Order: sequence, then C-alpha cells, then structure tokens
Amino acid sequence: MTTAAEVVRAFDDHDLHLTRFLYCDNGGTIRGKASSRHGLAGRIESGIGLTVAMQAMNSLDQLQPVPDMGPVGEVRLVPDPATFRVLPYAPHLGAMFVDMIGLDGKPAPVCQRSFLKRMCERLAERGLRIEISFENEFSLARAVGGEYEPVDSSLCFSTIGMTAVQDVIDDLVTALDAQAIVLEQYYSELGHGQHEIATGHAPAVTAVDNQIFTRETIRGVATAHGLVASLAPKPWPGNAGNGCHIHFSLWEGGRNRFHDPGGPGQLSAEARSFIAGLLEHLPGLCGLTAPSFNSYHRIVPHYWAGAFTCWGLDNREAPVRVPSLYAGREEASTNAELKAADASCNPYLAVGGLIAAGLDGMERGLEPPEPVQVDPGTLPEAEREARGIRPLPVSQREALDALAADDVLTGAMGGVLAGSYLAVRRSEWESYSSSDAAFEQQGHFEKY
Ligand code: GLU
Ligand code: MG
Repeated sequence: MTTAAEVVRAFDDHDLHLTRFLYCDNGGTIRGKASSRHGLAGRIESGIGLTVAMQAMNSLDQLQPVPDMGPVGEVRLVPDPATFRVLPYAPHLGAMFVDMIGLDGKPAPVCQRSFLKRMCERLAERGLRIEISFENEFSLARAVGGEYEPVDSSLCFSTIGMTAVQDVIDDLVTALDAQAIVLEQYYSELGHGQHEIATGHAPAVTAVDNQIFTRETIRGVATAHGLVASLAPKPWPGNAGNGCHIHFSLWEGGRNRFHDPGGPGQLSAEARSFIAGLLEHLPGLCGLTAPSFNSYHRIVPHYWAGAFTCWGLDNREAPVRVPSLYAGREEASTNAELKAADASCNPYLAVGGLIAAGLDGMERGLEPPEPVQVDPGTLPEAEREARGIRPLPVSQREALDALAADDVLTGAMGGVLAGSYLAVRRSEWESYSSSDAAFEQQGHFEKY
C-alpha cells in the first residue's frame, strides 16, 4: 500500500468503519485519532490536527510546562500509507503510522518518527542501512478484584506454559501474519505468565512501525481472550522483567557490514566501533531505551537485562550481547543485541538514539574494550573499574540525567525534542518516586 487511493480502496474492500492515525509520544504511550470513510482521502493527504501540547503530556496525562507546547498551536498527523494495516483483532478497523508535520509542511521538530528517519539518513550518507529486530517479552494476566494474576506459573521454556495459553498464541500468530509481520520464534519465558515472540528484521523505520503494531496486537489479542497483556518492564516486583531486546546490524545492499570473516569473532571493524560508541553512550541511551520509572526495577544485576556498561559474546548479563553465528549462515546471522531496552520506550527514539551513539563510535573510530565473558556483577569492583565497566543508571532519574548530559544524543534529537522529552519523563519520576509500589504497578501494567 503506497498511495492514499490504495488505502481508501482497501478501506472499502475490507468494509472498515474507521482507520486509526497512530503515533507514539514522549512518554512511550501509543495514541492516535481515527478517521471515518468520509473525508478519508483528504485526511491522508493533509493529516488530522493535533494540539502541540500532546508532546508535553506525560504518561499520567499531566501536561508539563514546555515552551510552545501549550493550548495554542497545531501539528498535523500525516499518515504514511505504506504502513496501512487492517487490524485483525478489532472489528472494522485499520491503522497507519503518522509523521507529525508542522503547518509549514515540514516535519515538526518534536516528531519522533522523523528523528529516526534523520538518523537513518546519516547512515545512508555512509552507504549504510541498519536492520533492526525486536524480541518482545510480555506477561499475560487475569484482572481479578483489581489485582493482576499471571495466567500460568510455569517454568522457563516449559510446554506447560505454552499449553496454558495456546489459543491466545495461535490467534497472535495468525494476527501477526495477517499484518505481514514476520514471526521468527515463540516460547514461554522464565516469569509466571511470561511469553516471548521474536519478529523478523527490517530496515529501522519499518521495524519500529511493526514493533508498535506488534505491541498493539499482543494487547488486542489478549483482550479478545479476556486477558490483560503487559509489556511493562517489571510487571510484578517479584517476577522476571520484560525486556524488549533490540537486535541490529549494518548493511550495504545485500552485504552485512557487521560481518568480517577475518575479524575477531567475525566482527568487522565498523561493528566494533559501532558497539564502542554504544557502550560510551549507554548510560544516556538508557534514558531513551529503558526510560520509565518501572524500568529500573528490571535493570538490576543478575536478571539478564544488563546492569553494567560492557559487551560480551553470548553473554546474557552484558547489555550489549553479540550472539554466536549459525553455521552456514554466518554473514546473515551476524548482529548485536541491546538488552538494556524495554517496551516502555518510544521505539523511534530508542532506535534513533542507538544509531546516534553507534555513529559517534564509527566517526571517531572507537575500539571497544575486551568483551566481558563472565557476569560483570560478580567481578570485584576494582576490576570493573580497571576495565572501564561502569554501572548503568539505577533509576529513571539517573538515566534522564545521563541523557541530559549526553550532547551527542541530545544534539541528534535537537533542542525541541530533547527538551520536551526530558520534561515529560522527569515529571513521571516526580509522580512515581513520591508514591508507592501499587501506584507504580497501576501506572505501568496496562499502559505498556
Ligand atoms: N527477561 C530478561 C530481561 O529482562 C531477559 C531474559 C533473556 O535473556 O531472554 O531482559
Ligand atoms: Mg527472553
């Protein structure tokens, strides 16, 4: 689907009643407005109006004081017809992702999707394209008397867990397929009620659009089964966290530039520099990739989410993991994974920030330190210090302070986006840090 006319035709062919114009805001909330058939073609061309204030709205719907993001002013939600999907889990409904366009016809400086496009253009100037895929961990629960109960108490990768929700997963697989989202793998995960799907890789903007569709689909299918799906980083304080691991590799046409059969671990010099940049900026990047109050109950040592700035080969305690290659598919399977990421992020910002950090490493020709091949949390502090292994932020506040202090990341975002983002996320810290665990769970469980 590439043109407005094709979207309108599909709307009629599928007997839709509404199509949503979706965006993800600074608080990681997926929001939108919907158009009926009447006037749809015009809205696809020139967008739906949205108050500029929405990018100053936090995930508690508290409007923050941000310059030029008050009651006066509009942006247009202009959809990308290529993203149009009929939603299989909702009757008569379609959806598209939008760019936020100013009244001057240019991308609004606050537009997160346009930020990711800008970062992809910087890669394209070097002849490169980043391929991204996501591993989505989520928890399935029943809401009982105001509490969330995990649907199973099964063991890691256990078939008992798979069987407990096999009908839900079957509908999920069908729904993803109907939206042309490639599903690679499914399994029940460690936590009670926790399951995981890995989706196929695609160029960054498409991968992120699909990631948001995937989040919507997980929730939509669960709801149809009378369940609540949560992608919150730490849905229950005593249970495993939900990561949203981001896999990445750089390509030139059909060639994987992360791969070099002669390099150490078959990793190219460019891949190593990209990883080195990521490590250097990781504390600030966490402000984009693991950005909620709840995120820091997940990012703790020994929980396989990564809690120190390091990389490792097949090391699941390293926030940057380089997976071992598959025989016969060495080049195709060369990639790295950022584990310090969760679904409370705005994925356009998370991946855009990842690119900005990696590009900085490439531009400066950085070389990463030795990979860490043990759990870094078990190393004596003096050894960690000697090897340049720093703790990741331990709170949302620390992560946001690190982001604010990182000129490479905030410079790439630009003042308007960085300023509004920090205002929104910092206000969440103010609310959650002065309240209790029940308020934190309510504020994250059904929002992500
Ligand atoms: N659930 C872990 C996390 O919080 C990840 C477990 C795994 O390695 O898949 O990221
Ligand atoms: Mg997992």
